[in-house]
Amino acid sequence: MFCFQCQETAKNQGCTIAGVCGKKEPTANLQDLLIYVCKGISVYGDALRLKGTVDREAGRFLIRALFVTITNAAWDDDAIIEWIRRGLEVRKGVAERAKAAGAAPAALPDCAVWTASSKEDIVAKANSPEVRITAMENEDVRSLRELLILGTKGIAAYAEHAEVLGFEKDEIYASMMEGLASTTKELSVDDMVAMVMKTGENAVATMALLDEANTKTYGNPEITEVNLGVRGNPGILISGHDLKDMEELLKQTEGTGVDVYTHGEMLPANYYPAFKKYDHFVGNYGSSWWHQNEEFESFNGPVLLTTNCLVPVKKDNTYLGRLFTTGVVSYPGAVHIADRKPGGAKDFSPLIEMAKKCAAPKEIETGKLVGGFAHAQVLALADKVIEAVKSGAIKRFVVMAGCDGRFPARNYYTDVAKNLPKDTVILTAGCAKYRYNKLDLGDIGGIPRVLDAGQCNDSYSLAVIALKLKEAFGLKDINELPISYDIAWYEQKAVAVLLALLFLGVKGIRLGPTLPAFLSPAVAGVLVKNFDIKPIDTVESDIAASRDDGGQVGPAGGAKNKRRGGCDAPALFFGGNLEKLRSGAFRLLQARRLQRPPRTEAT
Ligand code: SF4
Ligand code: SF4
Repeated sequence: MFCFQCQETAKNQGCTIAGVCGKKEPTANLQDLLIYVCKGISVYGDALRLKGTVDREAGRFLIRALFVTITNAAWDDDAIIEWIRRGLEVRKGVAERAKAAGAAPAALPDCAVWTASSKEDIVAKANSPEVRITAMENEDVRSLRELLILGTKGIAAYAEHAEVLGFEKDEIYASMMEGLASTTKELSVDDMVAMVMKTGENAVATMALLDEANTKTYGNPEITEVNLGVRGNPGILISGHDLKDMEELLKQTEGTGVDVYTHGEMLPANYYPAFKKYDHFVGNYGSSWWHQNEEFESFNGPVLLTTNCLVPVKKDNTYLGRLFTTGVVSYPGAVHIADRKPGGAKDFSPLIEMAKKCAAPKEIETGKLVGGFAHAQVLALADKVIEAVKSGAIKRFVVMAGCDGRFPARNYYTDVAKNLPKDTVILTAGCAKYRYNKLDLGDIGGIPRVLDAGQCNDSYSLAVIALKLKEAFGLKDINELPISYDIAWYEQKAVAVLLALLFLGVKGIRLGPTLPAFLSPAVAGVLVKNFDIKPIDTVESDIAASRDDGGQVGPAGGAKNKRRGGCDAPALFFGGNLEKLRSGAFRLLQARRLQRPPRTEAT
């Protein structure tokens, strides 16, 4: 196996024997094959696109199949084999439609033509070297292709959430197919870079679509105090990101005497008006995804995983019998709730019946936390925020969005939050907030110092807020704002968010706790050089350095820009010559890496 798609990859190089996440070799290999099938589908889908047709059936399959391969989603090999079988059917269909349209590609790579007639054929292909990431020996080409593919996985996840709510765009599917098909071709560096930037553009479009889907369906998130304690009724715990599942679970549990709590990534569901109206929606239980072995155990009732992250059940855990998966998630031994039929709803009655027989959740904390600061809510407070900036009460915003994870090095984010000057406001989205959202960081004139926009896809909200502030202060460039970016990443949705920020022209992002292993030294060097991306350093030095990020907008008026403004991202990204890029910027990067203490491995 070879997998380097997440931040916790072994030695920050790649998992080759088993995943640090717990993924075993057969599962990793099957996931590689599923991506291979997705590339084959895209070869035909892209040929159709060039003839002016977007194949929706192919697009709808791709968003689910790629989502299956995201970290901590699919653990059941039989389920992945079924996805591969379905993928081969979808590929056959799109190939026939391409042929009928006179769009059959002239040269077909193996991913577009290999076939399997049995489970054994599929397993044999999954174990063969041509489907592995390492089949591409040139590490820079591999890096650019994987940057595109991993970002596309994140886009797929966000597009799937939107599609479930009835929102989809052919342009998004078309761009995904164009990008995946491009990874089967010999392209120049410039062309590969252009495809990566197109992926960033597609990430922005997809996050905007998901924002529209969520807010049109469930209303704009509102400032909300989320209860952290428990009640005496039995409960169901729901995690992941799928708001449609949340809606149906709340409807089906109403009046049953069973309460509903969110966990991990589902916390932002508490901020939506459409869900707040349910009295039996009690609040949030526990913390971020990697605490689930303890927290699912003490919850006592059924647990529903609607998307990643699901971590392996440990030997001494007893909750496998009350673990339910749905959608792209699978786990051996857990009951899978089937997809809804057209016009229908999923059937969550097995969870409800089980919950009635379970003890109430054990209380693990009490109190409340505040969230719901997506763009509409922050813009409703815009006058107050702008006044606070103009008066100098708020001197700086720090975007500390992204992921949480197991590495002790992530205490950095807690320490940064604790030590930032009191005139700094943290803008957040995603699981990273669990590192500091229960600290009492106070407020600035009634504006909380941590403004949580929601899930990681709500990073789009943070971009909207930044663009509105730029407008309000009459600035030419988003980089002139007094905003620092201190992003924590873990899995592939965060890669999509990162590409989106780069496409929007954001510079000077601090990325941690480590830089992605899938960036070759040359590609990483280019990001450092052209986008001023930097690995996190010490808490003290990063806080000190952040005072020079961007510009200053304050009582003195006007903007002082210290960050290089403007961005012609594709042109800036590479000079077109990989060799040149191995020089200065990479040495700088290595020097910074060497300055950092060795990382402690996850336990
Ligand atoms: S998802 Fe991460 S931890 Fe798991 S195998 Fe891949 S790189 Fe390793
Ligand atoms: S914040 Fe990161 S770890 Fe959490 S769901 Fe989003 S991408 Fe995954």
